[in-house]
Amino acid sequence: MLSVIPKQIDDESLIGYILRLTARNGFQIPLDWISEAQLKASINYTLSAKQVNALNDFFPLTQSLGSLSTRRHSVLFHNYHTETPRVCPICIRHTGYIKEEWRYIGNLKCPIHGVGLIDFCHLCSHKLEWSITLLKGICTNEMCGCFLKSEPLNNVIECLFIDEICDCLLADFVYSQPYNTYWPNLSHPDCEKLLAATSNGYDLLNGNFKRWIELYDAQNNPFNALPFKYKYFPLFHLAHSLENEWFFSEQLKNLTTSTESPSKQSVNVGSYVVTADSAMTILGLSKDEIMNFSPEAKNKKVIPSRMRINIAPIINATMVKK
Ligand SMILES: [Zn+2]
Ligand SMILES: [Zn+2]
Repeated sequence: MLSVIPKQIDDESLIGYILRLTARNGFQIPLDWISEAQLKASINYTLSAKQVNALNDFFPLTQSLGSLSTRRHSVLFHNYHTETPRVCPICIRHTGYIKEEWRYIGNLKCPIHGVGLIDFCHLCSHKLEWSITLLKGICTNEMCGCFLKSEPLNNVIECLFIDEICDCLLADFVYSQPYNTYWPNLSHPDCEKLLAATSNGYDLLNGNFKRWIELYDAQNNPFNALPFKYKYFPLFHLAHSLENEWFFSEQLKNLTTSTESPSKQSVNVGSYVVTADSAMTILGLSKDEIMNFSPEAKNKKVIPSRMRINIAPIINATMVKK
């Protein structure tokens, strides 16, 4: 058992509680007394029975350890709590503990102080870490050590719901990696700065559609010379995956009707990897086509929807036909 065991506060996160126990017992970091696996499982609420027993040797784990997962809102990730800290620096300085609800990406601001929940230092820009200095509202970058500060959040993104926030994060992700034809399957949201990413994604879904088209018409788009549906595929992929109606989807429909037929240039694309699901639902390829051309799918009875296949041979064959 630890020598000093304050009670866990009702809405305190387990990792926040572990930081408090760390500080109160004179340790520098949680890894001074628990293992890395225990720490990670505590952050994610994925503790095994064995790990719970091990932690119980140090302090009584009183709060329920329900899993954090909820209904799926995003194709990019399935846990809606960030793995890294997001905090209200004002609350922390008043109360000295870290709330679980702050990590939930559906919450963009502190309901008490109206400021954005921050995941980085306003001064040195470092991403916040699970460190005991956080309990004092101090930047976790040792070289900085300033008091964290956040600005009032009173723009349009403060009213967004979780599924809208996930749409914005997806748009931000696609824009940052525009020529990615398949997306990762992440456990947690993985953006540098959640507020900035949400806000950028919101602008991308509501603002000037030209920003998108410029990206795909650019010479450095490796798929620039391919037929329409392959050249702009990531945009259709995005529209297909959005949970809400946005201006973006409207604009994309216009693109379909107003753009000229594909270029007649002959190109030979070496690699064009998409998921089986995208190939069938977005690009309209048949199961037979996929089976015939993709060695990965050939010997499978059922094609798993997330299976990645290189459809370059299919694209090349269509282009020769024309
Ligand atoms: Zn607050
Ligand atoms: Zn800093």
